[in-house]
Order: sequence, then C-alpha cells, then structure tokens
Amino acid sequence: MQTSDVSPERLQRLATFEAPAGGRVLSLYLNLDPAANLAAPVNRQTAVNSLLDEAGRAVEGEEELDHDTHMALREDVSRTRDALDENLDDGWAEGAHALALFVCGPADLFEVVRLPRPVDNRVFIADRPSIEPLAEIGVADRWAVLLVDGDDARLLEGRGDRLEEAATISDDHGGRSSAGGMSAQRYERHVGMEEKQFAKGAAELLRAADERNRYERILIGTSDRYYTLLLSHLSQELRDRVIGRFDAGADWQSPQAIREKVEPLLQMDETHRERAALDAVGASGVRGLADTLPALYERRVATLLLEPGVERPGVVCPRCRWASADEARTCPVDGEAMREHPNLIEWAVEVAIEQRAEVMSLRRHNDLAEHDGIAAALRF
Ligand SMILES: [Zn+2]
Repeated sequence: MQTSDVSPERLQRLATFEAPAGGRVLSLYLNLDPAANLAAPVNRQTAVNSLLDEAGRAVEGEEELDHDTHMALREDVSRTRDALDENLDDGWAEGAHALALFVCGPADLFEVVRLPRPVDNRVFIADRPSIEPLAEIGVADRWAVLLVDGDDARLLEGRGDRLEEAATISDDHGGRSSAGGMSAQRYERHVGMEEKQFAKGAAELLRAADERNRYERILIGTSDRYYTLLLSHLSQELRDRVIGRFDAGADWQSPQAIREKVEPLLQMDETHRERAALDAVGASGVRGLADTLPALYERRVATLLLEPGVERPGVVCPRCRWASADEARTCPVDGEAMREHPNLIEWAVEVAIEQRAEVMSLRRHNDLAEHDGIAAALRF
C-alpha cells in the first residue's frame, strides 16, 4: 500500500467515486501536525486509537443502513486500523502533516493521501468520499528554488509545503535528477568561465528541470545583479512563473533554512493569487450559496472560492444532484424527492472538481464572510 500527494487526477477520481448501490465510503482525516507534537510515534498511536474509536462509534450510529453495509463498514474500520498500525511509523507519516484515508471494501477502495498541512481529525460516512478538507488544502503544487552565487548554482524542488532534496549530483553539466523526484542539483563555474556563460548554464539547469517537472512557482536566491543577468537567459514563459528574488548564496544551507527564507515571498504570492481570483468573481462571478449552487449545477464554474471550515446543510436530488440550501421537497428538474445533505460545501467541491474547476480556499482574505463563505468565478 502506497501513500501519495494530492494531485488533480486523484481529486478527480475521488470526486467522481460512488459507493456501490446502498454502500458507504469511510473517510478519515488524521492530524499529524509536528507543531502539536503529533509527529512523535507514541502520540500518533493515541491519535490513531481515538480516531478509529470515533469511526467505530460513527459506524454503530448509522442505524438506517442494511446489515451488509453495516458489516462492510465495520470491516473497513478494522482494515484501516491494521493498515495504520503496520504502516504509519513505517513510511506513511514521513513528511506528512496529516493523512486522509478513503475506504470502501465492497468497491476495493483503500486510498491514503499525504497532506502537506495539518487538519482536524474527522470521520465521515457517506455514499461518496468526503473530499472537502482535501480540496481545501489543495493540490500539492511543484515549485523550485534556484540559488546562484559567483561560482555555484543549486536547484531545490518543492512539493506543497515541503522543500526537500533527495540527492545531490554535482558536475560541470548540471547533473541529473534522482529517481526520488525531489532533487538538489548543482552547476559549477569552471576556471576562466565567463560570468555570462555561467548565468546561461544556471538558467539551463532550471529550464531542463522544469521540462521534467513543471513548476508552478519559481524563486531565485541571488544578488540583484545576478538576478537581472539570469532573467535575461530565461524564456518569457519561465520568467512569468518567477515570483521573486531573495538574498542567498548557493552554499549548503539546509532546505528548511531556505524554506523559512522564502516563506514571505510564498505568502505574498498566495495573497496576490487570492486577490486575483476575488477580482475575477467581482468581474463576472457569483457570491453566496443561492447563486453559486445553480452555477455549479449548470457547469459554469472556472474557480470555486471557499472560506475555510464553513459547513452548510441542505438538500440534494439523488437522481440529478440538483442542490439547494432551502427546504425544497422535490427537485425542480426531475420531480425526484430531495434528500438531506449534511454539508453543501462538500457537494460544491465534488461538483466543482467534476467540471475541472479550480478550488481555492481563501487563507489570506475574508471577503466571503458575508456571502455564506462561497463564491465562484464563471466560465460563461
Ligand atoms: Zn433532480
């Protein structure tokens, strides 16, 4: 059994997964926040036990389920307990600030997703995987840091909140990437090499790595003078993804130290991206549940914006998935009897991902506080 990061493909697969007729999916979120001491194995064990005890109680509380579904859920809880006992200290927790698990024995579903940010422990039992907390954290984007000083260029690769290096290869041709994906690469200036030629080589190191793993964001640690020289050797397309420069040499500072240095630039970039998305809502979008739900149903959404942690109960049509926050008894589309849904934000995220909309959780703006915590920029 393997863990993996949040990817668009995985979100897509989970958003469209349905338990076999009458069945249920068990979704679990396990917090492993190092800042809350949950990285220590003994504390982890306590957290696992209390989460699975909660899952067991939730399963017993599902009184309307038929016997087979009940038995399948009990089996899912016990399978999850065994898998966590076996794997949590042995790889699954490594580098993760939380885990999301989606289990449905009858459909042979057992997915473990590593999350780059902590989440609250949660248990969900529903006919679909509960992906709202996962989507709120978002896809773990790839990004890169290029460090350049007079003699060395060094490239590090980030994924989500992490910045890591798995291997170092140093030679005059820029080196190769390691099989592990996260890689540190170096490019060294030879004796007598012109500064311009060296800058060109450093730019090439970045270009070649980007060709293998497209970076959403690029940060450059170097002097003002080198920055200008480097940018002149990058294509416009790469330059557009450079979000800023910071002061650093290419010496062997740890990835953690570099991660701390770039944090303000990453935060500033996040603030800009959120503002741009809110501006797009202002230009041609909708705010509030009453307007956003129909836009989602009509597949018109380009970006779904959410305030973190908001929950809204409502009703959903079991046939066509029309949703409403009002107490509609029957679906206006097909006349089907509506079913209660504990959280329409979960529904909104599933439907947004089905139509390949971007889901953005607003961490730096509270513009949606007066709009039910939900808005959408529209495609048309
Ligand atoms: Zn309907």
